[in-house]
Amino acid sequence: MTKRLWIETVGCQMNVLDSELVVAALRRQGWEMARGAAEADAVFYNTCSVRQHAEDKIYSALGRVRFEKAKRPGLVVGVLGCMAQKDQELIRTRAPWVDLVVGPGQLHQVPALVADVLAGGGPRIEVSLERKGAARDVIARSFESYDPDRDPAMRPTPFQAFIRTQTGCDKFCAFCVVPHVRGPEQARAPDTIVAEATKLVAEGCREITLIGQTVNSYRWSDGGKTHRLSDLLLRLDGIDGLDRIKFVTNYPRDMTPDLIAAVRDLPKVCHYLHVPAQHGSDAVLARMKRGYTIGQYMEMLALVREELPHAAVTSDFIVGFCGETDAEFETTLDLVRSAGFKNSFIFKYSPRPGTKAFERLPDDVPEEVKRQRNQALLEAQADVSLAGNRRFIGTRQQVLVEGLSTREEKREAAAAAAGAAPADATPDDVVQLSGRTMCDRIVVFDAPRRLVGRLVDVDILDAAAWSLSGVVADGLADAVPLTSLGFTGETEPEVHSITLPRR
Ligand code: SAH
Repeated sequence: MTKRLWIETVGCQMNVLDSELVVAALRRQGWEMARGAAEADAVFYNTCSVRQHAEDKIYSALGRVRFEKAKRPGLVVGVLGCMAQKDQELIRTRAPWVDLVVGPGQLHQVPALVADVLAGGGPRIEVSLERKGAARDVIARSFESYDPDRDPAMRPTPFQAFIRTQTGCDKFCAFCVVPHVRGPEQARAPDTIVAEATKLVAEGCREITLIGQTVNSYRWSDGGKTHRLSDLLLRLDGIDGLDRIKFVTNYPRDMTPDLIAAVRDLPKVCHYLHVPAQHGSDAVLARMKRGYTIGQYMEMLALVREELPHAAVTSDFIVGFCGETDAEFETTLDLVRSAGFKNSFIFKYSPRPGTKAFERLPDDVPEEVKRQRNQALLEAQADVSLAGNRRFIGTRQQVLVEGLSTREEKREAAAAAAGAAPADATPDDVVQLSGRTMCDRIVVFDAPRRLVGRLVDVDILDAAAWSLSGVVADGLADAVPLTSLGFTGETEPEVHSITLPRR
């Protein structure tokens, strides 16, 4: 009988891609997607360890799934990803009903592991080596990059795809657990990345987002030549049928002139740069072991502004890091007020076991102060974002239509809950759609549903802090339908997420 899978994903784009690939691997073995945990034969959680909150969410989800498992002992419960690597046996100590614990470097094993559990083989823990206690290359080999061929019929969003450029991270910022749970930085070969992109584009993909923990640190050496991210972008820009290329996340010191020039000169590369500053104070940046001063960050930003005057730059910030004084926090506020970020993701510091900050610096900023600083920074950024967005009123923007707007999704979910038949929806129905400009600004507008996955021109009429709104301009007939690119499937997402407040 067909087995059904339910998967919940938290965290970064890497996890979204990992979930897509795990789902595809199981579907290839005959699995189908369930509509919820209650009707699933296997329930997976693809987890994040970057903040305590992300882990708490998973432990409470595991608490809930326990009742399901008690009713149906054959249900396979799996914890995948970063928390699996970090907590290992602890997960089964806290939740003994978990059958599978699989780290991000072991995801290729999932189909075999599930089959094993179903055959009565008992619980399994498959993780990679820890970063201490072995040679770097031995540790690196224990983290296998998971990039199997993708089946176009199984892609959640056929017109967009993430492609991994490298796994792991070697930056060791004092606050960050990523180098510990995703292992040493390992680049994929440029030929492999370009081949993957070419195949995806042939299957109807129009936007590719390159992902790496610090994507612009990409280096690949062969035959005496070092390939950098700028070299990779040049090759990807040449792929016929591809419209847009993005890359996240950037490390400020690796935002080199060749990369900025590549963004300037290559027409498909989006003018959108996510370059987290993390803080406005040199003293705090030093405690965070970020490896740059705010002066160096501003020099980088000045070069970006000079070469790419219309680019959107975004940042991450941590408030309430160990020892952060009021005066130090003010420097972050000043940076946000002056740097003109399109938006910032703001996080309250969360101590992570295994990191330098956890081991050496007390988490001494009270929760209430973190909360206040978080709020103050959000408000400062909202003012800057609104002013930035208002400059777009009256302009025409090319938008890649991504799907229904959040408002429309909620409206349709409510209608479905009230018993309205979704089958009544036709491609010509005018609904509120949402898409993004070349500089990653969200645009909402009313248009026929069938425009999802197309590039359309939108005249911008209004602006809010986090989005623009407008009307579709003339020339709609030019938009290339996805079906002409060989895509005929449904756009129903297969990767289900419980979303944390992040990208
Ligand atoms: N390199 C990846 C993942 C980093 S985690 C990327 O940027 O996508 C994303 C953000 O979470 C970081 O930029 C940082 O601002 C925040 N973060 C990381 N560790 C944190 C911690 N211990 N507490 C609070 N925020 C943290």
